[in-house]
Amino acid sequence: MTAPALLTVDLQALAANYRTLEAAGGVPVHPVVKADAYGLGADACAGRLMQEGARTFFVARTREGERLRAALGPTPAIYVLDGCLTGRASRLREADLRPVLNTEAQVTEWRAAGGGRCGLQIDTGMNRLGFRPEAAPEPFEGLDMVLSHLACADDPAEPMNARQRDAFAVAAARYPGTVRSFANSGGIFLGEDYGFDASRPGICLYGGGPEGRPDERIRPVATLTAEVLQVRDVPAGESVGYSRGFIAESPRRIATVAAGYADGVLRSYSPRGEVFVGGALRPILGRISMDVCAVDVTGLEVAVGDRVEMFGGQRMLDDAAAAAGTVAWELLTSVSARVPRTWVG
Ligand SMILES: *Cc1c(COP(=O)(O)O)cnc(C)c1O
Repeated sequence: MTAPALLTVDLQALAANYRTLEAAGGVPVHPVVKADAYGLGADACAGRLMQEGARTFFVARTREGERLRAALGPTPAIYVLDGCLTGRASRLREADLRPVLNTEAQVTEWRAAGGGRCGLQIDTGMNRLGFRPEAAPEPFEGLDMVLSHLACADDPAEPMNARQRDAFAVAAARYPGTVRSFANSGGIFLGEDYGFDASRPGICLYGGGPEGRPDERIRPVATLTAEVLQVRDVPAGESVGYSRGFIAESPRRIATVAAGYADGVLRSYSPRGEVFVGGALRPILGRISMDVCAVDVTGLEVAVGDRVEMFGGQRMLDDAAAAAGTVAWELLTSVSARVPRTWVG
């Protein structure tokens, strides 16, 4: 498959990362496939991970869960991190989804509708979702998983990690017989005592490093490429793009590339963005446009129809994100719906 801008997903690399995470954590991996598997395609990614042995998945929204259930069939367990929102219990039950209950109201809503298998989130310090440990409910029928989420897992030196781990161990002990799920991607690499019974990685499955930078243990999975639409020579003194965002101090050869901010090439790439083209990393020049951007290909053999890599095996996802002042999570989920996905391996 080809297209002016294209996201290629390497399912073998995804599977390799899954195996790496399982080995590193020493516990089963329960993949997080929310936000369409971070933009890589939840159906294809979860389907491939099932082949590797995954049987439990996490999504954020009920709607994501419904779609995943339709794609994967009845076998896997699917937990919904939003929990059971008001009036949502019947939809959850219909699609055999398990809400991760976050509040007393959600517990009441779920149980009043008949209940069934569900999880419980304990907030051990992030102050985002879930019960404070001292306010967590008594064990109840159907509860089969307790989880908590690390606030600083990408920073192994952060003392809050151990505090959250210890708080979770205490809180989870109130729910014997449930699966204790704690570590996200970063947490898996913090040490064996972060493993508990199951992990919940997202970004490391999809090629981001556990500490927000490229990591040799994690293979690139997603590659965003775009076609060169035009090559032009810009004389010294002329400008490139909107607002004269780049002014050529010497003659430059510019490739105009079919990827703009409507494709997930963030506007904040300028002025530090780089892409891999013609065998080299080359700077993006001036402002990103909606559908195109300009790359300095001076001195390179680059022609119309050549492909430029915005991130992938040659331009690492975390480095690309850093250049745009963001993180791999946002960069992946910014690749818009107009970019076709193709799955290989
Ligand atoms: C998104 C999310 C994860 C996955 O986090 P990564 O850092 O991408 O591995 C795990 N658990 C919860 C509760 C989440 O919201």
